[in-house]
Amino acid sequence: MTSDKIPFRTFAKQHLDRARELLSDDKLLAATCLEVRMALECLAYESLQSFPDRETRELILSKRWQPAQILQELMKFDETVEVDRSLTITPENTGIPIKLGTDKRLKISWIRTRYSALGRFVHTPTIHDHREGTAEEGTKIAAKISEIIPEIENVLSSRIWNTHINDQMNWRCRCGFLLKVRAADVEAKKLVICPSCDGHFLPLEGPEGWRLADGHKWFNCIHCGKRQTTLCRNWQAGSQIICKHCDGQIQLVPGLEQKTGDVRSQRD
Ligand SMILES: [Zn+2]
Ligand SMILES: [Zn+2]
Repeated sequence: MTSDKIPFRTFAKQHLDRARELLSDDKLLAATCLEVRMALECLAYESLQSFPDRETRELILSKRWQPAQILQELMKFDETVEVDRSLTITPENTGIPIKLGTDKRLKISWIRTRYSALGRFVHTPTIHDHREGTAEEGTKIAAKISEIIPEIENVLSSRIWNTHINDQMNWRCRCGFLLKVRAADVEAKKLVICPSCDGHFLPLEGPEGWRLADGHKWFNCIHCGKRQTTLCRNWQAGSQIICKHCDGQIQLVPGLEQKTGDVRSQRD
């Protein structure tokens, strides 16, 4: 297995070139549709291939192959997957901004609808289509393809592509695991849970910048009923908590969290 990048953008251009050639022959429309679909697949695979996090790439690759589905999965990690990015650099010596270009992207919904529309044309019309007269005419299919090709070419014409903005913040959990949190989630102060040790943390902004603070759980004492908090990491089956009010011992049993129902994570 090689780790070299596969030239998907070149492949995508080749598929589109072939599609343009085939388009002139109305007997070859199904083949034309397949070429355009393959160009879309190449674009999605290119985005996946260039995604910086290897584990994420492998995970997506193991369960998805259709372009829109792949991009939808990537979207969970990078909300800007379908957004054009204009890049400008400002050299320190001149202070004059230089526009590098725009990394153009296709919208996932656009890809999904076009991909499935093209998919319909690679099948022969059904009995129902013939009887009802709903089979697509060649001219209509060709018109549809002619509409799709330039949109993909527009993306392929970008002078820059595969730009990635590192919008992640990293923290080392006390268990040693490297926690990677999206900047947007940090700003929204979303609960961070360590997948390795189940530690719960909340992003807090201080004079030194952002830090991860231990998350707290709220619960009611089973003896005196008083509401109080404990560190999330103490809230594990098998651990024992002493009530701050009545000194009563609370033994946490598996499933307890579900039973109490009102245990919520709170900011500290
Ligand atoms: Zn951890
Ligand atoms: Zn109590």
